[in-house]
Amino acid sequence: MENCIFCKIANKSAPAQIVYEDNDILAFPDINPAAPIHILVVPKEHIQSIADMNGNHTGIISKIIFTAKKIAEEKGLTGYKLVFNVGREGGQIIDHLHLHLLGGWKNKSTGEV
Ligand code: AMP
Ligand code: ZN
Repeated sequence: MENCIFCKIANKSAPAQIVYEDNDILAFPDINPAAPIHILVVPKEHIQSIADMNGNHTGIISKIIFTAKKIAEEKGLTGYKLVFNVGREGGQIIDHLHLHLLGGWKNKSTGEV
């Protein structure tokens, strides 16, 4: 997709500090972090959102979740949030499917970092 920022990051025509990459997916820090650790895990294929997922995408979505778990472990997180925003009403701004990995608080309920 020509004007999609996450497609551009995937094809290296836009910058990102890539923390994980394979043939199907990549992961990089969110430019405007909402947590001490905030990583986006993204398929290289332009899938618009979970709402556009079909039966052929079950493998890639599983891989995205498993990769987020591995990155969380690498970063020493023992608890974290995994979030898919879906559609404008669900808070999705970028129309290229992505999983938010959020963590790094000492105690989420107190907001202590
Ligand atoms: P969402 O609201 O689920 O669509 O989240 C999109 C996220 O992408 C937001 O948290 C943005 O801060 C983040 N974002 C937008 N552009 C970039 C970029 N170029 N590199 C990294 N993160 C980005
Ligand atoms: Zn895209």
